[in-house]
Amino acid sequence: MPHTGHILHGRYAVVSCHVERPLDDEVWRRFTALQERPPGGFAIAALMRPPAEDEDRELWLERAREARELGPFGLHTHWTAPDHARPTGGDPAALVREQGAWLRSVDLQPTVFCGGGWYFDRDVAAAVAELGCADCTATAFRPHYLAADAPHLQLAEPTWLELGDGRRLLELPTTHSIGMLARGMLAPYRRQVVHAYFHDTDLLDRVRSSALRAGLGFLGLKRTPSDLDELQRGFRPEKTMSFANSRA
Ligand SMILES: [Zn+2]
Repeated sequence: MPHTGHILHGRYAVVSCHVERPLDDEVWRRFTALQERPPGGFAIAALMRPPAEDEDRELWLERAREARELGPFGLHTHWTAPDHARPTGGDPAALVREQGAWLRSVDLQPTVFCGGGWYFDRDVAAAVAELGCADCTATAFRPHYLAADAPHLQLAEPTWLELGDGRRLLELPTTHSIGMLARGMLAPYRRQVVHAYFHDTDLLDRVRSSALRAGLGFLGLKRTPSDLDELQRGFRPEKTMSFANSRA
């Protein structure tokens, strides 16, 4: 890794995976294979959905520890159900705190957070800051399935979110989906940091999987491959925004 421990000034790319089905053997096999031999040389962050009540915690922990050896480890909260990411009520920040406390109790401290369905509000931001994570729930694009007034944070570049009380949260927005990466192969990237994401379940689809591999290979040639932990250590955003009284 270049410049570790120093301020990063170049043009970087990082990659994260929303691990939706960590207990599905075939999905996990494919994800591990990608983490072990990543196209473009990226340390792919595993943003993992914690196990639901009726899921196998021991197997989940075993796999989370494996993933953590191969790249940054993050918390990906699904608020409603394994297959329903966004909250439908309750206190979204409380679940982030609960899951964060559980991860700490099993010695799996996450370094990154990404809210399921791109849900983000100021209380969640505060919970993420307390957890000591950077956030990557903001997106540079508007997710097509969100209503115009749905809580969501749209940002193109890494930004400090000021939360009030002097606290701030490092936001490293997600900028490219697999499809956007594929389109990017035909046009120059303008941003200083490209953050590409995919879902583990994309790896079950031959077309999406090969688009991802080609896209990451190309991205690794155009940008300096970095990862979400290295950016936290060395990247200092120029932008700051107040998030204390905003409703994302
Ligand atoms: Zn998800």
